[in-house]
Amino acid sequence: MGSDTEHGGGTGAATGGEGGAHRGRRGRGAPRIGRRGMLIGGTAAVLGGAVLARDELARLWWRVPGMAKPRKEGELDHPGAEWTAASRANWRLADRPDDYRIDRVIIHVVQGSYPTALRVFKNPGHGAATHYVVRKDGHVAQMIRELDVAFHAGNRSFNERSIGIEHEGFVDRPQDFTAAMYEGSAGLTAGICARYGLPVDREHVIGHVEVPGTDHTDPGPHWDWDRYLKLVRAAMPSARKAAGKATG
Ligand SMILES: [Zn+2]
Repeated sequence: MGSDTEHGGGTGAATGGEGGAHRGRRGRGAPRIGRRGMLIGGTAAVLGGAVLARDELARLWWRVPGMAKPRKEGELDHPGAEWTAASRANWRLADRPDDYRIDRVIIHVVQGSYPTALRVFKNPGHGAATHYVVRKDGHVAQMIRELDVAFHAGNRSFNERSIGIEHEGFVDRPQDFTAAMYEGSAGLTAGICARYGLPVDREHVIGHVEVPGTDHTDPGPHWDWDRYLKLVRAAMPSARKAAGKATG
């Protein structure tokens, strides 16, 4: 989240972004999906454009009526995380990385406590949520599956390509960023980098503040990027091993 509104206040004035704390953009995908849906049902096959059709179909096959990607409630992407679901209003069904490429991790700071983050992400009125929330003791909650698009970055294309991680605490309180939290979060980010083949660098692990168009400042100047990336790199060997096992 940002340094401004934890509770958002629901200004509803989200223009290019998502307004307050990770306000979502619900409903905006509908026209585009409809148009592409028509394309699939109609001219795509006639055009015979194998390249176009393959791309479009890979993105949308499961939106075809009667098709649904099987998924189990409570299924986790990060081993050891606690599953606690965000409100369905705060994310969008997807099939990443097959429909959208996952190419970065976005680091947030709650501007509040861990329970506060869980509470607002479970609130359908909040319009925003991250995939993960990390507590000061390093405990990780997963609230949205990595294959789905969470509304957290305030930028549609960044939401579609990223995984969002919230951290308990406040941007102006460096003491909130505990060693245990850095460790727990680094293990999580290492797992994400291993699962999607991302390099561990500041191009692929960014702060919310770096998302184009955002007015959010998190994780703020006290977040120690050098320390964090060092921890992520140290966690990569075991993360790669775990990812290799998971994919057989
Ligand atoms: Zn944020």
